[in-house]
Amino acid sequence: MKHIAWNTEDLSSGDHRHLWHPFTQQQAWCAQEPLVIVSGKGAILTDSRGLDYLDGNSSIWTNIHGHAHPRIVEAVARQIATLDHTSFLGTTHPSAIELAARLVRLLPGTPLPRVFFSDNGSTAIESALKMVIQFWQLQGAPQRCRLASFSGAYHGDTAGASSLGGIGSFFDRFASIHFPSERFSSLEELESFHQPESLAAIVLEPLIQGSAGMRLWPAGMLNALRTFCDRNGTLLILDEVMTGFGRTGTMFACQREQVIPDILCLAKGLTGGVLPLAATLVTERIYNAFLGTPEEQKTFYYGHSYTANPPACAAALASLDLFEEETTLETLQPKITFLTKALQSLQTLPAVADIRQCGFIAGIEVHDPLTRAPFPWHDLTGARICKAARKHGLLTRPILDTIVLMPPLCVTTDQIAHMVEALRESIQEVSEK
Ligand SMILES: *Cc1c(COP(=O)(O)O)cnc(C)c1O
Repeated sequence: MKHIAWNTEDLSSGDHRHLWHPFTQQQAWCAQEPLVIVSGKGAILTDSRGLDYLDGNSSIWTNIHGHAHPRIVEAVARQIATLDHTSFLGTTHPSAIELAARLVRLLPGTPLPRVFFSDNGSTAIESALKMVIQFWQLQGAPQRCRLASFSGAYHGDTAGASSLGGIGSFFDRFASIHFPSERFSSLEELESFHQPESLAAIVLEPLIQGSAGMRLWPAGMLNALRTFCDRNGTLLILDEVMTGFGRTGTMFACQREQVIPDILCLAKGLTGGVLPLAATLVTERIYNAFLGTPEEQKTFYYGHSYTANPPACAAALASLDLFEEETTLETLQPKITFLTKALQSLQTLPAVADIRQCGFIAGIEVHDPLTRAPFPWHDLTGARICKAARKHGLLTRPILDTIVLMPPLCVTTDQIAHMVEALRESIQEVSEK
């Protein structure tokens, strides 16, 4: 393939002049040349200097089948040429209709038969929160207006979603614009809450909390939470924005404990990680509560200009096709085993404090090899390890001192081995000098 010659210096100064990156201290960012990614193919990303990197965090937890998969590229191109966009307020279109039907069938028995589309993980949650508040009002129980979530939770950055966030450094300063919510550190703490009848809904990242540092819930937690919700009449919202679409080894994490939520929020991997799209799936009970004449004022007033964007729907449909055609989930199982074994080989490194894995999601936590205490957080050791890993052909991002390894599901075992070796070298380089 012919490579376009990029001028990295120009791109760098252009970025520094006008851009503001998410979750980024711009002062440090502008002090060094950024990594400019110019193309992607399969599990590999290429920078403006022609260097290749394995995409170790699936481009922030989104990519599923690899970059520029011809099946998805073709589906999106065909859709844009036919219908690029139409409003979902007042019209509908074939790709959204088909996608909704296929999404609801991913859970056997279609327990969540209604799909509300939006644009990203935050809005998948945001719309779910507004739905449950309105739902209880329509049910004649407006006192059920409090939302609950867990310490360490991350459900997005819009004000509603961030009200539920349990990561202080991200969310505390916005407390004055957050709405009332309860935060629990464990299921036990939730079970001893004195006002369960005030809870409209509980929101959880099932099996594993991502932004908390790939923190695993105890086995059975999800089931016990479902039981708590049933006993107290509280709705259960599962945030599968990270865990959805095979990431944990099954299509959805909730299937691992055979738990069906009242609302399921999907985004990141929904389009195969190609275009922004989110879906909030709900029970018929919730949906039915919103039916009525205009005068009854039961309409759900929520929506975005790009709701159910046709190319995004087409990408999602092609991604679901690929799950079948490439038997993605079946071929994933031996790769999960391979990843487990490969990660075990890191356990002997003195700087490795803990390795947490849930299916194809892993977090490798490092600490000071001499004192076995955490590194001072402002040393940014995790970030320095990830920077060093680039030289070994691995691109990923840490959460503090937990290095995330979450490859696209299409990755080969050779590529997994390469990623883990890159991590070994960079952990040693940074922590042992
Ligand atoms: C990424 C993420 C979100 C937010 O999704 P965005 O598309 O970034 O708004 C919400 N919940 C979880 C569990 C996530 O990992």
